[in-house]
Amino acid sequence: MESLGNFIDGEWTPAASGRTLEVINPATREVIALVPDSGPADVDRAVGAARRAFDLDGWPQTSARERGRVLFRLAEYVRRNEKRLAEIETTNNGKPLAEAMGDVSDAGFCFEYYGGLATKIRGDVLTVPDNAMALALKEPMGVAGMIVPWNYPLMMAVQKVAAALAAGCTSVLKPASQTPLSVIELARGFEECGVPRGVINVVNGGGRTVGMPMVTHPGVDKIAFTGSSEVGKLIMREAAATVKRVSLELGGKSPNIFFADADFEQAVEGALFGVFVNQGEVCSAGSRVLVQRSIYKTLLDAMVEKAKKIKVGPGLLPDTKMGPLVSQDQYDKVLSYVEAGRKEAKLALGGGRPKGLPKGAERGFFVEPTIFYDVDNSATIAREEIFGPVMAVIPFDKEEDAVRIANDTPYGLAAAVWTRDIFKAIRTVKSLRAGIVWVNHMQPAPVEAPWGGYKQSGFGRELGPHGLDEYLEVKHVYINLDERPIGWYK
Ligand code: NAP
Repeated sequence: MESLGNFIDGEWTPAASGRTLEVINPATREVIALVPDSGPADVDRAVGAARRAFDLDGWPQTSARERGRVLFRLAEYVRRNEKRLAEIETTNNGKPLAEAMGDVSDAGFCFEYYGGLATKIRGDVLTVPDNAMALALKEPMGVAGMIVPWNYPLMMAVQKVAAALAAGCTSVLKPASQTPLSVIELARGFEECGVPRGVINVVNGGGRTVGMPMVTHPGVDKIAFTGSSEVGKLIMREAAATVKRVSLELGGKSPNIFFADADFEQAVEGALFGVFVNQGEVCSAGSRVLVQRSIYKTLLDAMVEKAKKIKVGPGLLPDTKMGPLVSQDQYDKVLSYVEAGRKEAKLALGGGRPKGLPKGAERGFFVEPTIFYDVDNSATIAREEIFGPVMAVIPFDKEEDAVRIANDTPYGLAAAVWTRDIFKAIRTVKSLRAGIVWVNHMQPAPVEAPWGGYKQSGFGRELGPHGLDEYLEVKHVYINLDERPIGWYK
């Protein structure tokens, strides 16, 4: 078992307190590593290093071409270590290896995408009255504090770090304490990829002891947070004291809408993939499956039949399609929602631990794919984010009913609509209050396109060109072209 460090100012260091946290494999509950259990003193050192790299050592002044080259080298590093990074991700988070390989591949593309975008940052020349010229310049925001969750540990970190590097910002990154290992592995490559000292710092530890000190630290200019709406609200409040820029990627309860004219086979698979991929630990999980009444029974039966065949087990086994949940807390939370669901809806499938787990995995945090039906949209399992493999199937009659039910939620992260009628598809897309809407698909998140929520799912965008704007300030420069005095004082 390895004892790993924080990466601060280009060096690996333990927590100032010397304390450590255990990191476990959720498929077996084995302790697989120790990481620093850091605190405010470690955050202060990391912010100091990031500040110096930004204010004195010239990272923002490094040419965009050079910053782009650093990002391309990071992409290469990720690709060279793809298998290793994916195995680490699966061992630490639990997800099936094929999914982890997809995440790592996306992380490589993300570095590459922002490497290309670094040289395309552009401002505007604005028409103004008088004999003058006005420019809107884009400049790096400064030191960015990044707080990420455990469901896509590498990708959530990379999509922040890559955009920040491209913009010319420096970073202090806090991985989720349950899943720090893939980010630590990535940080091992920073020096060889040419990331200067202090430009990216990784501080391990808990939300209260590391996350919040980043939020309140006067040396941090911006907080990029991905996590629960509850913590997001707290961060927004605390960041107000220093008027930090904040972007929040929060939770969801996304509707996956199936009209009667949808392609049936596509629909069955789309509904299952929408909520069971990544064990349902997905912010955009299509956990509310809205089905038009005329196909309700047939689609439900077909989903149940297909879901019975989903292989649940340790993520490293080749035929696994659903791994364990990430932790005991998450396991308990999901099962408590299943108990609530039993009282308020009908259970068609699952609801407990899968049988026949392989040797060594008996103590893992496995939950069966679970399908509730005849769910009312006011039920707890239709309103609250479960963040596990639990589907709530809700019938509807007309198109306007589907839209009303879909929008009847405090969240607004994602939605999907399945139909072969292009007019209906576009009408529905325009009526849905969500930051991401898929038509005849659910979950693709290409690094080239923006990701983020409406309503209580947060604000700000990651990925795509919009993700870069989150790390840029706009400076208005006014250039007087008139050589005479302005003539105000006679
Ligand atoms: P969480 O409890 O909010 O934690 C997220 C991160 O915030 C972790 O690093 C956590 O640290 C830290 N944190 C916790 N309390 C904090 C505090 N008081 N101050 C500062 N930081 C704090 O969420 P989670 O359970 O890990 O992740 C699941 C949530 O993330 C779900 O709601 C999901 O929808 C959301 N999510 C959203 C997106 C999106 O793009 N919209 C993507 C993925 C996940 P520790 O855990 O180490 O204590």
